[in-house]
Amino acid sequence: MPTSTAVLDVHGLHWATSAAVVESALTRRPGVTGVHANAANQTATVTYDSTATSVADLTNWVRECGFHCAGRSVPDHMCDPMSEPAGPPAEHPADHQVVGEHAHHAPATQHSPHEMMGHGGHAGMSMDAMVRDMRNRFLVALVLSIPIMLFSPMGRDMLGFHVPAPFGLRDDVFSFLLSLPVVFYSAWIFFDGAWRALRARTLDMMVLVAVAVGAGWLYSVAITFTGGGEVFYEAASVLTAFVLLGHWFEMRARGGANEAIRTLLELAPPMAVVIRGGEPVEVPTADVVAGDLLLIRPGAKIAVDGTVEEGASDVDESMVTGESLPVSKAAGDTVIGASINTTGTLRVRATNVGSDSVLAQIVAMVQQAQNSKAPGQRLADRAAFWLVLVALIGGTVTFLVWWSVGAGVQTALLFAITVVVITCPDALGLATPTAIMVGTGLGAKRGVLFKNATALETAARIDTVVMDKTGTLTKGEPEVTDLIAEAISEPELLGLVAAVEKESEHPLAAAIVRHATARGATAASATGFRNVPGHGATATVDGRRVAVGNRKLMVDEDVDVPAALMGRRDEWASTGRTAVLVAVDGRGVGVIALADAARETSAAAVRDLHDLGVQVVMLSGDNQATARRIADQLGIDTVIAEVLPGDKAAEIADLQKAGRKVAMVGDGVNDAPALAQADLGVAIGAGTDVAIETADLVLMRSDPLDVPIALRIGRGTLRKMRQNLWWAVGYNVIALPIAAGVFQPAFGLVLRPEIAALSMSGSSLIVAVNALMLKGLKLPAPPAAPSNPGPVTVTQ
Ligand code: ADP
Ligand code: MG
Repeated sequence: MPTSTAVLDVHGLHWATSAAVVESALTRRPGVTGVHANAANQTATVTYDSTATSVADLTNWVRECGFHCAGRSVPDHMCDPMSEPAGPPAEHPADHQVVGEHAHHAPATQHSPHEMMGHGGHAGMSMDAMVRDMRNRFLVALVLSIPIMLFSPMGRDMLGFHVPAPFGLRDDVFSFLLSLPVVFYSAWIFFDGAWRALRARTLDMMVLVAVAVGAGWLYSVAITFTGGGEVFYEAASVLTAFVLLGHWFEMRARGGANEAIRTLLELAPPMAVVIRGGEPVEVPTADVVAGDLLLIRPGAKIAVDGTVEEGASDVDESMVTGESLPVSKAAGDTVIGASINTTGTLRVRATNVGSDSVLAQIVAMVQQAQNSKAPGQRLADRAAFWLVLVALIGGTVTFLVWWSVGAGVQTALLFAITVVVITCPDALGLATPTAIMVGTGLGAKRGVLFKNATALETAARIDTVVMDKTGTLTKGEPEVTDLIAEAISEPELLGLVAAVEKESEHPLAAAIVRHATARGATAASATGFRNVPGHGATATVDGRRVAVGNRKLMVDEDVDVPAALMGRRDEWASTGRTAVLVAVDGRGVGVIALADAARETSAAAVRDLHDLGVQVVMLSGDNQATARRIADQLGIDTVIAEVLPGDKAAEIADLQKAGRKVAMVGDGVNDAPALAQADLGVAIGAGTDVAIETADLVLMRSDPLDVPIALRIGRGTLRKMRQNLWWAVGYNVIALPIAAGVFQPAFGLVLRPEIAALSMSGSSLIVAVNALMLKGLKLPAPPAAPSNPGPVTVTQ
């Protein structure tokens, strides 16, 4: 079954528990295999069978259950043209035009990057507009609550004197009139939301707030129109005001949390210069198609991924690859969308546009991570559903108990409303999504991309980090430093070796070929090339059998290596260089030493990991002496060397069997099985796609220091998640009995609905703010670009 995954914008998910509404509504549909709705960033990640349904269908279904859904949550110019977004909700006809236009041709207006983020590039309300809407509803409720309070029985008692209501109206009639806008405007989102939830056959906190406000108001209306008496319009309106206040703040906090994605999206320029009919024309980036020729002037951002056809320039790719130095580009080189052209003018043929682009994939990755649920949250979500039920039953029981002991309908109702309000499990629903969002965002800002919430949690629990030597701790750019030949001349040796290594794709091979070419060695052509993974390579050159590789290869080839050569090999290896042996026709004839500079921050990263109490292990296919020497320089205590590429995963499994939580950091294709085996697979740099696909965590900047940083972010996030869950659960445990009036007979401790609303809103706000405080997590500053970017060779 061909499964696809789409991230849909679902605006109007006002409450954390509303996510369950979207989930239950979509899960029932044909072809849908999984749904994770997330109120924290207003999206739903849907996995579906692409033969049975489509993004357009999904979008319609979300809309049917009452939420605004705008289609894929990737900006227009990154949207996959094959899966154009469906129409916008009927309530927003103005947006229809925009979406329709974007899907097919040029939008009439250019969208600022901020708008793109706000709308997710689509219809529906932007987060900003939603925050404003919430604020307006709150202000109306607040302003009207003041006079309603003043003319209430409670207000009169507090003031000590009675101000007559204007126009000769009775107090309760005047309050009734003032309460109308509160109920039918401010509180309307509660009734609306409750209706949607019930229609989707689930319960969420909208139901609770609607029941509380509705019960208080309807009771008061009934009293008012049956001759008057003790009314409490003030409870209904103040309740509305406080719940809206809490939600307004909480939404502001959530909006702030997602600036990471916004920052990423802002990287893409909205306009591009395309050469059409020989003339440069400025067009929206959304209109660039693969095959277009783009003109990139100095200082301009490259709009899409492509291949240079003409021109030469230095391009700053730091925002995408993390590489701080500009990379020089000429005809035939590939460029990445969102990188900045610095010196020259380039003509670039567009290759990957829209959702295929590197940047769109990064954004999609971060979004999916933010939408994924931490294992603990599933439990919290289920608990939230039951808490809503408990709140409704608790409210009913509270009413019946107080009424039966003769407390009067009004008192009983007040207690019941208070119970319903205070038990709202809003904080429980927000507890971990807010922390996950801030955690992934914090990482994304420095190129530390967590694939999902589970990766964040796992990162917090890692106690052993295994690092691949070549390409991870070192730059993976070896250079020939020394060479010795015996029985043949150096040029002859280089010629023979280069002939073999030309056929190999190993980084050592490339370095040897480069060196031979620089020395002017003429390489003949090789036949019968054989690559021996982890050992070396063999071939026949000019009728002679040539073997290049480590000692194991020499043993396998039955080669006798003279003692003098072995001596040099050991000497070079002990200085941390990789010494490669060369044999011709079964006789050892030379040794080539290669040095691969350690990355500038490798040693600091190891130190930082040790500070975190994490054991660092170096894994290498290189020989023991070389690996040991480099490990010593970096302060690594455990070395596993001479590991065959296929055995890396087994080494990780051994560590796991010893009870360790292992993170494996690697870059190459041959690291993929080990990355998959590890508890946390970490792909470093713009390494191979395979590694990035297998990994749970991708470090864009190729900086080993990002490994301890990822672990710190993981630990910080887990800490926040725990704190939030404890807080949310503890709050409900304490608040429920107080609200029910359990302590009233003994201590006279009574809560009114208004206070309940304040404490309920306050508790969700505390959860959101607590998660935001993670932004202050102390992380080492990213290192400045080195002033002298020369190769750093291993000290000898
Ligand atoms: P790593 O990934 O740690 O670099 P490999 O498993 O790729 O290790 O290689 C292990 C060792 O095998 C190298 O250190 C080198 O001695 C030898 N080797 C492998 N391929 C080649 C090659 N093409 N030319 C020379 N030596 C090679
Ligand atoms: Mg490697």
